[in-house]
Amino acid sequence: MTTRNTTSNFGLTRRLFLLILAINTLLLPFLLWGVLYIVEKGYEEKFIDNAKTETYLFSKHAANNFQTETLRPFFEEAALSGMITYIQLIDVNSKNLITIGAPSSPEKILNDSEFGQNNDYTYYNQLKVIDFNGTDKGTLIIGFDELPTLRQIQLAYKRGLYITFAYIVLTLSLIIFLRPKITALTKQINEQQQELAYRAIHDELTGLPNRNYFSNKLKNSVESCSKDGSPFAILLMDLNFFKEINDALGHQVGDTVLRHIASRLLETARPTDVVARMGGDEFAVLLVSAGPAQAVAFTEKLMMVLHKPIVTAGRTLHIGPSIGIAVFPDHGRDSSTLLRRADISMYTAKQNGLGYTQYEHGLDMNPIKKLTIGTELREGIQNDQLVVYYQPKVDLTTCKVYSAEALVRWEHPRRGLVSPIEFIPLAEQIGLIEPITLEVFKKTLWQYRSWEAKGIYVEMAVNISARNLQDETLPDQLINIVNQLEIDPSRIELELTESAIFSDPDRAIDILKRIHTQGFKLAIDDFGTGYSSLIQLRRLPLSHLKIDRSFVRDMIHNENDTSIVRAIIDMAHDLDMIVIAEGVENQATMDKLKAMGCDRVQGYFISPPLSAEKFEQWLMNSNWKP
Ligand code: C2E
Ligand code: CA
Ligand code: CA
Repeated sequence: MTTRNTTSNFGLTRRLFLLILAINTLLLPFLLWGVLYIVEKGYEEKFIDNAKTETYLFSKHAANNFQTETLRPFFEEAALSGMITYIQLIDVNSKNLITIGAPSSPEKILNDSEFGQNNDYTYYNQLKVIDFNGTDKGTLIIGFDELPTLRQIQLAYKRGLYITFAYIVLTLSLIIFLRPKITALTKQINEQQQELAYRAIHDELTGLPNRNYFSNKLKNSVESCSKDGSPFAILLMDLNFFKEINDALGHQVGDTVLRHIASRLLETARPTDVVARMGGDEFAVLLVSAGPAQAVAFTEKLMMVLHKPIVTAGRTLHIGPSIGIAVFPDHGRDSSTLLRRADISMYTAKQNGLGYTQYEHGLDMNPIKKLTIGTELREGIQNDQLVVYYQPKVDLTTCKVYSAEALVRWEHPRRGLVSPIEFIPLAEQIGLIEPITLEVFKKTLWQYRSWEAKGIYVEMAVNISARNLQDETLPDQLINIVNQLEIDPSRIELELTESAIFSDPDRAIDILKRIHTQGFKLAIDDFGTGYSSLIQLRRLPLSHLKIDRSFVRDMIHNENDTSIVRAIIDMAHDLDMIVIAEGVENQATMDKLKAMGCDRVQGYFISPPLSAEKFEQWLMNSNWKP
C-alpha cells in the first residue's frame, strides 16, 4: 500500500514538473509574441499619425503659398530629410504642377490606407489643398518612406526572439539543474511519510504489525466474513514466565526471546494470516478461513514450534505460551466480543496450565454469575427442572423413524426453557455434567419404556460429554440403569464428540471399550469439527458416525462442503460404520445425501426436537411413522 502511494507521489511531482515546463516553454513565448505584435501595431500607428500630420501641415503651407517657384524648393528640401520619398502637387484641373521623386502608379497611391501595403515600402497620403478662404486649389500627394519603421519593427522582433530563446535556455537549464534536487526532496518526503505510516502500524522491536493494525484487520475480516459467511479464527498468546526471564536475565535477553517468538509465529502462519505483537509479551494471530478445527490444528502445530528451546547469551531457554482461541462466527460476531473471548480463553489456559483453550459458552461469565447459575442449576437438577426433548432420526432406505435423540432443556422458574448450549459447557466446568448425564439417561430410558408400552418402538440416543469419559464409574452406572429397567442396551446409542474422545484418548478408549462390551451402540458426534484421523477412529469400537450439521447446512450451495460430506460417507463405509447426517433442513439436501449413499438423516426438515408428548402426536400423523 505504501509503495503504491510513493509511485503516485512521484507521478504527481513529474506531472507538476512537466506542467511548469510547458508553461515556461510554450505559454510565455506565446505571450511575448503577443506583446511584440502590440508593439508592431504601435509603431505602425505612430508612423501613419505622423504621415497624416505632416501631409496636413504641407497642404496648409501649399494653400497659403500657392506658387510653383516658391513651393518647389520647399518640397525639395523636405524630400531631402529622407522621411519623404515622393511629392506631387496637382491643380484643380488635374494639371501636374510639381513632381519630386520617382512617380508611382495612381492605383498604388489611391489604395494605400495601411502600413506596408502594395510592397513598395512607401505610404502614400493625399489631401485637398484648400486656402483660408475655403478655395480648393488642387491636391497634394506625399509618399512617406516605410523602411525605417519596418526596420525598427524587425529589430524589435529580433530582440524578442533573442529574449525568448534566452528565456527558454535559462528555464531548461534551471530545470535540469533543479530536477535531481526536487526528485531527491520528494523522495525524502515520501520516505519520511512511509516511515511514519509504517511506525503507526508496526512494532519496532519485532517488525510485526502492532495492535492498531491487528484491530483494523480484525474489523475488516468481521465485515467481509459477515457477508460471505466464511469463518476465521483469532489466537491471543502470551508467554509464561516472561516477566521472570526479563527481570532475571535482563531486557536484552527478553528482546531476543520476543524476536525469536515473532519469527517462529511468522514461519508457522500462512502468508495470508496476520501475525501481530499486541504489546509486551502478547502476540495475536488472525487465521483466515479457519473454523474451530483448523484453529486447533494450527495451535497444536504452533505449540510444537514454540516449545523448541531458544539459545541466547549462552543460555538455553524453554518458553511456554498460553493461547486463547475464538472463532468467527461461532464465538462472536463482532471484533470486541471475539477479542474479549480469546482473552478469557487465554487466561483460562494460563490458569489451568493447559497450553491453549478454545472459547466455549459460559467461559466469559463472571465468577459471581457462574456461581449463581451453578447453584441454580444444582437446585434445578434436584427439583426436577431438567426436561428431555426428542428429535427423530429417519432411515433413508425404509423412510421410517428408527430412533430419537434425547436433547436436554432446563425449565428455569424465571428464565423459561434454557437451551443446553447455555448450560452444558458451564456444567462441564463446574462438575455438574455427571448428574445431568445420568438424569437425562434415566429420563430417556423411562420414556423408552413408556413408548414401548404404547407400541411405539424407537431406539434412543443420549449425548455423553467429554468430562463423562474421565469418570471410571460411568460404564457401571449406565449398565445399572438399563438392567433396572430391563432394556436391551443395543437399543441405546451413546453420542460422543470427537474432542471428547481425543482430549485424553487412552482413558477414553478404555471406558468406551467397557461401554461397548455391555452392548451399547456408540456414535461419533459432530464429526468433521475435530481433527481426528482415520487411524485414530479405527482403534475405537464405534458403529455410527454423525456428520456435523455445519457441513450439511450449505451442502446444496457449497461444492467444498459436498466433497467433504462425500469423503466422510465413503470413509465411514470403509470402516463399516453407519452414517447419519444431522442438520438436514430441506428436501434437496435429503435427496442429495441419499444419492451419495448416506444411511440416515436428522434435522428440522423432518422435525425439530419435541417434548415427549408432542413427539407422540407428531409421530401419529407423520409420513415417517415406524
Ligand atoms: P448436538 O448433539 O449436535 O445436537 C443437535 C443439535 O442440533 C440440537 O440442538 C438440535 O436442536 C439441533 N438441530 C437439529 N436439527 C437441526 C437442523 O435441521 N438445523 C439446525 N440448525 N439445528 C438442528 P440443541 O438441542 O440446542 O442441542 C445443542 C447441543 O447441546 C447438542 O448438540 C449437544 O452437544 C448438547 N446437548 C444437548 N443435550 C445434551 C445432553 O443431554 N447431554 C450432553 N452432554 N449434551 C447435550
Ligand atoms: Ca448429539
Ligand atoms: Ca451433533
